[in-house]
Amino acid sequence: MITDRQFRDKIGGMVTGRVLFDEPMSMHTSMGVGGRADALIIPDTVGELKKLVSFFLREEVPFLPVGNCTNLIVRDGGYRGVLISLEALRRLEIRDENLPPESTLKEEYAGSVCVYAQAGVSLSGIVELSIRKSLAGMEFCAGIPGSVGGGLKMNAGAWGRELKDVVESVSILDAGAKIREIERKDLPFEYRNLDLPEGTIITGADFHLVKGSREEIQGKISDIIAARREKHPLAYRSAGSVFKNPPDCPAGKMIEETGLKGLRVGDAEISGKHGNFIVNIGNAKAEDVISLIDTVQKRILGERRIFLETELKIIGEKL
Ligand SMILES: Cc1cc2nc3c(=O)[nH]c(=O)nc-3n(C[C@H](O)[C@H](O)[C@H](O)COP(=O)(O)OP(=O)(O)OC[C@H]3O[C@@H](n4cnc5c(N)ncnc54)[C@H](O)[C@@H]3O)c2cc1C
Repeated sequence: MITDRQFRDKIGGMVTGRVLFDEPMSMHTSMGVGGRADALIIPDTVGELKKLVSFFLREEVPFLPVGNCTNLIVRDGGYRGVLISLEALRRLEIRDENLPPESTLKEEYAGSVCVYAQAGVSLSGIVELSIRKSLAGMEFCAGIPGSVGGGLKMNAGAWGRELKDVVESVSILDAGAKIREIERKDLPFEYRNLDLPEGTIITGADFHLVKGSREEIQGKISDIIAARREKHPLAYRSAGSVFKNPPDCPAGKMIEETGLKGLRVGDAEISGKHGNFIVNIGNAKAEDVISLIDTVQKRILGERRIFLETELKIIGEKL
């Protein structure tokens, strides 16, 4: 059994990136709530990540990858194990521009441009690149504050599009600490989930975008940002949509119709602007948010016989 001291020394020697012990996750989650992680490690390279994961597997240290923590709540008792942030993996590049006509790509990809992004690149970074280079396809991601890794794991989407529609292949560090590339046809995407085996870490992905008109792309993005400002409670900290939408009615509408908008526990509130957002109006605790989630689930189940599954991820331990 490795001691705390040995653990710290070993980790320190393995990464040039930041290693934060006993780190308050309220400083990192978009909701601004949550307890401490035993460690939050930010490897600088995929090589460092690989070394870390091999070590954690060998020593049976629990670990979990995180991106921008915009869909994540850590309970107030904190996370016992290591959270690995991929925020330093930020390579973003255009791989193949002007693909030749004899390219092996199918007709549907004519005019395609392949963009490679590492897991820590923000979705907004790809959106910005797509404006600069007049590439259409990523507009729906405008205003989604996640990273490529978290976005793919969540199959993030909006306005009828999801990341699965633009991804070509995903590179992963698999549960045995081996790097692999998986093509889109073999990626088990679902609504707001990519069903990868536990312990899998997404390290990057290729996206296929299409050459388009810069004005049109910019116009679409401006419309999306304006619609988000109008509909979403962006003045407060949140984790975006709390619940997945059931097939027949958006969760936010159901919550509104059940009269739950404005309900508060501590400083957590079901937004009066959008029923599917819980906002932190001051110093909310994770348990305040979870208590509101519980209340909503019970009320909707009681009144509509529908169980609202959470979209956001809850990890860690109760106080
Ligand atoms: C204001 C606001 C608006 C939002 N709007 C939308 C929206 O329109 N559509 C939408 O889909 N979402 C939306 N979200 C939610 C969130 O931004 C997305 O789900 C985003 O994709 C999460 O990315 P992240 O990097 O923050 O992931 P995190 O919150 O850090 O993690 C989410 C999950 O992914 C896993 N994960 C993270 N990185 C990796 C990795 N590299 N490999 C494997 N697993 C990983 C984590 O373990 C966790 O289970 C919104 C959030 C906010 C705050």
